[in-house]
Amino acid sequence: MFDDLLDANRRYATSAPRNFDGYAHAGVAVVTCMDSRLQPLEMIGLMLGEAKILRTPGGHVTADALNGCVLGVNLLRVNRIMVIEHTRCAMASGNDDEIRQRVADASGLDAGELSVGANPDQVGQLRADVALLSEHPLIAGRAEVGGFVYDVDSGLLTQVC
Ligand SMILES: [Zn+2]
Repeated sequence: MFDDLLDANRRYATSAPRNFDGYAHAGVAVVTCMDSRLQPLEMIGLMLGEAKILRTPGGHVTADALNGCVLGVNLLRVNRIMVIEHTRCAMASGNDDEIRQRVADASGLDAGELSVGANPDQVGQLRADVALLSEHPLIAGRAEVGGFVYDVDSGLLTQVC
C-alpha cells in the first residue's frame, strides 16, 4: 500500500538535508490550510529549516496550532506568525452542518458529531484567529501576528489584518 512512497523515500534519503537544528531560522511560523494547492514555504520565499509550518483544516488556529505557536515563539526562535487562509477553501464554503452532510454523502455513513470548525465568514475567522494568537500571554509582545488570504488562482497573498 505504501511501497511507492517508501521507494521514493529511499531515493530522497540519498540527498536528504541532515545535520541541522530544528529552529525556525527565518523566525517565521505559518498557520495555514491543509489544502494541496498551497506550498507554504515557497509562497513566501523560504526554505527548509527557516519556518515552522502548522497545517489545519482551513488554516484555523486550533488548540494544537496554538500550542505549536507558543512553542515556536518561546523555544524555537519564532518572532513573526502568519495565519494564511485561502480562496476557494472548503472550510469557508459552509458551516459544520454542511460539511457533515458532505462527509455523510461521500461516505454513506453518519458523520455523527464531526466538528471541524467550518466558517463561511472567512475574514471574521481570520481576525478572530489573529486576535487569539496576538493576545495570548505567551505570545503577546514576543511575536508579530498577521492574517492573510492566499489567492489560489493568482498565487498572491493579501494581508487582511
Ligand atoms: Zn482550505
